[in-house]
Amino acid sequence: MPHQFACSEGNCQFVIRSSSADEVKRLVRAHVRMTHGGRIDPADLERGIERIELA
Ligand SMILES: [Zn+2]
Repeated sequence: MPHQFACSEGNCQFVIRSSSADEVKRLVRAHVRMTHGGRIDPADLERGIERIELA
């Protein structure tokens, strides 16, 4: 099942979607580091990942 994470830093509209939760986590960490110059709390990362159903 696909997993999705929508970045909620400021006005950031970045959305990451992948069939792999590990891939989403990896890409989110890279995004936060590169775009926001920081780190995401692992608990926030876990909480932010949603499983999405494809219509
Ligand atoms: Zn962002």
